[in-house]
Amino acid sequence: MTTVNLLEFDLDGLAAFCEKLGEKRFRATQLFRWIHQRGASDFAQMTDLAKSLREKLATTARVEALPVITQHESTDGTIKWLFDVGDGNAVEAVFIPEGDRGTLCVSSQAGCAVGCRFCSTGHQGFSRNLRTGEITAQLWFAEHFLRQHLKRDDRVISNVVMMGMGEPLQNYSALVPSLRTMLDDNAYGLSRRRVTVSTSGVVPMIDRLGADCPVALAVSLHAPNDPLRDDLVPLNRKYPIAELLEACQRYLAHAPRDFITFEYCMLDGVNDQPEHAQQLVELVRSTGISCKFNLIPFNPFPASGLLRSPQPRVLAFAKALSDAGIVTTVRKTRGDDIDAACGQLAGDVKDRTHAAERMAQRRTVVLHPVRATASKVSPAPPVTQGH
Ligand code: SAH
Ligand code: SF4
Repeated sequence: MTTVNLLEFDLDGLAAFCEKLGEKRFRATQLFRWIHQRGASDFAQMTDLAKSLREKLATTARVEALPVITQHESTDGTIKWLFDVGDGNAVEAVFIPEGDRGTLCVSSQAGCAVGCRFCSTGHQGFSRNLRTGEITAQLWFAEHFLRQHLKRDDRVISNVVMMGMGEPLQNYSALVPSLRTMLDDNAYGLSRRRVTVSTSGVVPMIDRLGADCPVALAVSLHAPNDPLRDDLVPLNRKYPIAELLEACQRYLAHAPRDFITFEYCMLDGVNDQPEHAQQLVELVRSTGISCKFNLIPFNPFPASGLLRSPQPRVLAFAKALSDAGIVTTVRKTRGDDIDAACGQLAGDVKDRTHAAERMAQRRTVVLHPVRATASKVSPAPPVTQGH
């Protein structure tokens, strides 16, 4: 008989499952706590549940993690896991410790159908959406593994960012129950401000998220105008910048934070020039949107044909935004030595979308910066991986 993986459920889902077994809601709450707060997977261990319930669970349910294919630990404490999700697909999750914070970067899909130019997941194409249980399993495993590994009794993961492989808002129905489990006080009890969904801009789903489960929102902007963003983030052709910013404005009415974070991946000679910073300032001023910018130094991978902006240019760009009154941070790259940095998560994807061919056909964006004073175009310096 096939059993149900209880990681598929948020508390309401688990209560509905328990009701079918003839059990009251408070039993579901107890079970939920055993699973998520204590990391239990063996029903026999759950001693405060009636024996009759434990027996019913043993024949109808299971708590099943994803098999770990590899685990890499960086010298900076970052840990990356590669999880097997079957049929030759594998996804990654990354734990990033920083002071008293522990952030888990979680994947939502095996691959990604958006196909951004600068993202190695995008280059791999798309295989399938993860199930709720597969999203939640990344947190369940990481939290309970880390408590043992770091010899801690208290919570290790304080923040979750949906910034691993995949576009979370293209897997909405599986995402939301997983977010609810992250937020639930009977499970991980994370505050809405500490759970971030990062999106390339799926406008209708931004509205739905605001209505169903508002959490912190990060939007991958990467360009200040539509022609450039069309090229870098193909979803822009469907939901152009003006529509995206309007959706961000609407989201702010529900958001746990009073700003949207715009992520901006700094690509040498592509989107990192003073005029791009100026256009961003105008965009923010004209829409009046409350936002912060997070500049991400591009993490190169060979197939992209793109280079990381030199650090002085990143700093000059940050200064131009800051001088205009926009709060701007530059993201520190973590886990470089284990390819765990943003956009390097590749896993294994049995692509069903011919991404490599699509990418090869795409128009090539300008790769070399036009230097402010030079009349000739000088080639960008080579960028080596890591710092
Ligand atoms: N699909 C979602 C979330 C996953 S990507 C999104 O696009 O927002 C998480 C972040 O990493 C995004 O801001 C993305 O643009 C950025 N990113 C992707 N590839 C990158 C790379 N090679 N270097 C730096 N950042 C990258
Ligand atoms: Fe997908 Fe995000 Fe990568 Fe774009 S940046 S391809 S949306 S995972």
